[in-house]
Amino acid sequence: MNTICSCCGRTQGETIRPFDDRVSHVMCANCGEYFSMLWDGKTDMSALESRKLPVFRLTVGRRLVACNKKAEAALRKPAGLMAGLLCGEFIGCENSTLPEGCGLTRHCESCALRRALSITADTGSTQERVMAFMHINREGAPEFTQLTATTSRTGDLIELELSGLD
Ligand SMILES: [Zn+2]
Repeated sequence: MNTICSCCGRTQGETIRPFDDRVSHVMCANCGEYFSMLWDGKTDMSALESRKLPVFRLTVGRRLVACNKKAEAALRKPAGLMAGLLCGEFIGCENSTLPEGCGLTRHCESCALRRALSITADTGSTQERVMAFMHINREGAPEFTQLTATTSRTGDLIELELSGLD
């Protein structure tokens, strides 16, 4: 019997009963690791909710895993509509909709928020109260916004705390 990963579709090889040509599904080790990281990010929400500011948990690849209610209110969107999006996309950065995509436009090079997240993702070092200026789109029209960002890393998750979204 051939077993394939139900998430990534990669074959996991033959298991018992080699002459049986049917297919069975498992989750491979890579996908298992990835999903347990996402699940970890969604647990302990009370720690997020007790914070005074909007807080976001991201993967090292800067995609949203979870955020607190203050973050949903500040960005006027439920977490479910933001999960999986890149940082500039869920914040509503005007540049994230350019054809090159979030993080890859000519503006992104000088983005202080992007730089803080990169340093934290790559080195694990906390970046405190970094000022970032961006045009963000929450209710139809882009608004010039001055954000203050603190980024930290725990294991495979990045935490981003933002002020200036009120
Ligand atoms: Zn897989």
